[in-house]
Amino acid sequence: MKKILIIGACGQIGTALTENLRKEFGNENVIASDIREGAKHIMESGPFEIIDATDKNRILDVVKEYGIEEIYLMAAMLSATAEKYPQKAWDLNMKSLLVVLDLAKEKHINKVFWPSSMAVFGSTSPKINTPQQTVTEPTTVYGISKVAGEHWCNYYYQKYDVDVRSIRYPGIISWKSLPGGGTTDYAVDIYFEALKNGSFECFLSKDTRLPMMYMEDAINATVGIMRATKEKIKIRTSYNLAAISFTPNEIAEEIRKYIPDFEIQYKPDFRQDIADSWPRIIDDSAARKDWGWEHNYDLSEMTEDIILNLRKHEELLM
Ligand code: NAD
Repeated sequence: MKKILIIGACGQIGTALTENLRKEFGNENVIASDIREGAKHIMESGPFEIIDATDKNRILDVVKEYGIEEIYLMAAMLSATAEKYPQKAWDLNMKSLLVVLDLAKEKHINKVFWPSSMAVFGSTSPKINTPQQTVTEPTTVYGISKVAGEHWCNYYYQKYDVDVRSIRYPGIISWKSLPGGGTTDYAVDIYFEALKNGSFECFLSKDTRLPMMYMEDAINATVGIMRATKEKIKIRTSYNLAAISFTPNEIAEEIRKYIPDFEIQYKPDFRQDIADSWPRIIDDSAARKDWGWEHNYDLSEMTEDIILNLRKHEELLM
């Protein structure tokens, strides 16, 4: 069985990805790593290593120790935090990617997954049905790092035949692992606050429509693009990926089906400007055509699943 290394495994997506890949490939074959410790079940259900994603020698040691063939690089600084620490965000997001691409170029590993983001788009990109190939002039440091990263991926593929695969995640919504400093985090917090307090103060305005996706779908996409045969991956920058687009008002309406008195107040902050620069609805037809991407959850199904699960796991609401 092949051995996989996940870098940034304790984050929102890394946690879910580690659980999923361990189920599919066996606990011992999926090595989780992060710069910090994370959820107990991630650290205890299989091998776990402390790794700094920018430390090439440390990653190489772990690759050799376990005989790693594939790396999923999930470590990054996200949009809202990156605006506070631009230089740190650039250093982490770029250096970690180049380190992993170099390991593949030097044939220590043979496949890489690296996520990009809808943040590659900016206010000059079309906002409705944002095409796969269009203007990418992001206004955030995070977006700049993702555009540059996409071009590095394509460069390493074209120049050195590095098999790197990438998708532009929209905002990812989950209830088991919490988000880490993104502009779409409100769509996770809202469920927790609705169940805990019956009310929520939203940092985006009522009608801010953004592309989003339930974690189950995000993991399916990640596993799906990595499973596809090499010839199917025709885009080596990064694929547009979409599922649902909604506004804070629409998610509040869905929550009211379960908590009728739920109240929401709107107090937009600096994240409103970031959200306003991003697409409303993304065209992901290339991913659907090339490697068979399909999403399963719409807003109602996702809301039902999250509320039922959080009611079952009340300890998460403490
Ligand atoms: P997260 O912030 O929840 O997790 C990132 C993890 O990386 C954290 O556990 C952190 O400890 C770790 N990390 C930070 N610095 C590190 C370092 N130097 N070495 C090793 N680990 C380090 O992020 P996430 O939401 O899980 O995002 C994962 C990837 O998906 C990122 O590339 C992000 O840009 C991308 N993405 C996420 C979303 C989203 O909505 N969550 C949307 C678009 C793209």
